[in-house]
Amino acid sequence: MPDLETVIGLETHVEMSTKSKVFCGCSTTFGSAPNTQVCPVCLGLPGALPVMNQEALDGAILLGLALSCTIAPRFKFDRKHYYYPDLPKNYQISQYDLPFAEHGTVTLASGKAIRVKRVHLEEDAGKLIHEGAGGQIGGGTAALADYNRSSMPLLEIVSEPDFRTPAEASEYLKAMQTLVRYLGVSDGNMEEGSLRCDANISVRRRGETTLGAKVEIKNMNSFRAVERALAFEAARQADALSQGEPLVQETRLFDDATGETRAMRGKEGAHDYRYFPEPDLLPFTVSPALLAALKARIPELPAARQARYMKEWGLPEYDAGVLTADRPVAEYFEAVVAAGAAAKTASNWVMTELLGALNARNQPLTDARIAPAQLAALIGLIGDGTISGKIAKTVFAAMLDSGKDAAVIVREQGLVQITDEGALAAAITEVLGRNAPSVADYKSGKQAAIGFLVGQVMKATGGKANPQMVNTLLRKALAA
Ligand SMILES: [Zn+2]
Repeated sequence: MPDLETVIGLETHVEMSTKSKVFCGCSTTFGSAPNTQVCPVCLGLPGALPVMNQEALDGAILLGLALSCTIAPRFKFDRKHYYYPDLPKNYQISQYDLPFAEHGTVTLASGKAIRVKRVHLEEDAGKLIHEGAGGQIGGGTAALADYNRSSMPLLEIVSEPDFRTPAEASEYLKAMQTLVRYLGVSDGNMEEGSLRCDANISVRRRGETTLGAKVEIKNMNSFRAVERALAFEAARQADALSQGEPLVQETRLFDDATGETRAMRGKEGAHDYRYFPEPDLLPFTVSPALLAALKARIPELPAARQARYMKEWGLPEYDAGVLTADRPVAEYFEAVVAAGAAAKTASNWVMTELLGALNARNQPLTDARIAPAQLAALIGLIGDGTISGKIAKTVFAAMLDSGKDAAVIVREQGLVQITDEGALAAAITEVLGRNAPSVADYKSGKQAAIGFLVGQVMKATGGKANPQMVNTLLRKALAA
């Protein structure tokens, strides 16, 4: 529909990876047995008082700063009331009219800036587990409540409705994931629910400035789900508009199995959460000293890092993007270069061999048995001609298994490259003798035959021959 425009805004929730909960000392470890990480505060027992977790507050402000937000010099917390079994206090401590951060931006690869309206800190609710097929246990329905998640620190990041395509929304969410991981604020894991998002989407005629009926979409649990849900919804709304059907403001659930959204409940917006200031927490002031200290903790962020790799080391944009998307990968790569490897070679080894192998083993980089200096030493052995690039891959696999140095493996397995002309000449004579048809092909002008012959010599030497020397010596032998 060329005359229609899709308008999308995102509300992102980030569960912080602090050691303890936001208002009590309970552990935040994921996956523990239900209700083993609870106390009177996060169970909402009468008389229990919340105490702010400094680590959560620092992390929240850190994210606000990294999003280029204005940090409020003074902010407070409010009670948001609603009644639901996952919320034992019947109110959630959140921030209403004075969030700690406002007016930020996230810049997409296209250069388009998405405005961040506000970021606030709140506590998470517990989790309800609906047991049994169709919710039936012994003939009755049951929902079980697990309060381990109750009062976990949660950041809510609200964007302005600046997205015009589902792809932009998904890119923003990925950037948010990279950012919270870079800052160490959250693991950003969508499968475990550490990164969740709801979307507001409406369709209007191009040129219109008011928004159409706003539909909220929930239950999008992957980047792909976000794109699919928004694409489905944009098409559904465009269809309705072109048919002259009215669109209603509603909340819809995305169904990952069918790729469709369906109405969940009717008109929202009339919520009355009866917000009022949280009397058990005093307003917070952010001193210029704290702000300066937190600013100093912000690492070089992915976009800046990517630009630096391109400028400083001449890496292609794609490679620089892959290397910087993950902070541990970027730091590993930089350590390989610092240990003496050429940036371009180091980049190829980290991106293709290392990440490829770890991916195949389903292993995180932190568990890799090759230290950056060991990888640099392996690259050094190729550079000084001790081993060929092909043998280096064998050595690399052995390093990954054993954690041994490349030089040790090369010595133990006798993998030193053959650069002795006499030894190579003998192998070449033997190969030429066995492959008369290819020799004839080459002599009749079929240049491609040389590739086959080089391969045969490499095979005959167990891959240890220096390929450049084999090439030169072969040509010499064939010309004779
Ligand atoms: Zn607790």
